[in-house]
Amino acid sequence: MSDCCSISESTAPEPVKTSSKANCVSCGAVSLPVERLTLLHQLKHPQLMNIPEVSFHFCVEPDCDLVYFGDDKTVYRRNDLRQDVGQKSTNPDRTLCYCFDVKQSNVLEERKMTGQSESKNFVMEQVKLKRCACDTRNPSGQCCLKDFPKN
Ligand SMILES: [Zn+2]
Repeated sequence: MSDCCSISESTAPEPVKTSSKANCVSCGAVSLPVERLTLLHQLKHPQLMNIPEVSFHFCVEPDCDLVYFGDDKTVYRRNDLRQDVGQKSTNPDRTLCYCFDVKQSNVLEERKMTGQSESKNFVMEQVKLKRCACDTRNPSGQCCLKDFPKN
């Protein structure tokens, strides 16, 4: 199991694993590694049956059409995935949390009404209880909490 969902103190910087990062082969953005399991649950059939046995990275750059790229230069684009990649969208209805179906508009609406986001609090609670499934649900394979809009 990955530890992608451990909540770190908001003041602490993300642990940096420089050695495992790579630059997107299309846009050059610094990209985090992504597990094979994530690709298997995100890619469409039949591509998912032919994923080469190499390491893959996830490009988070919104303007780049490339989602995953492998060490052997294999690339998968937005259209190769079963769902929209929220990280690559500027749509207000883009998905932030794939485990619990939270959209950006939900969070912004809640904040407007109450000053805080009930949905984000819910996600944080579920993450603490280890009830999330980011490594298969989220195209990035990472915890979604860092994708939520800042206050
Ligand atoms: Zn890119």
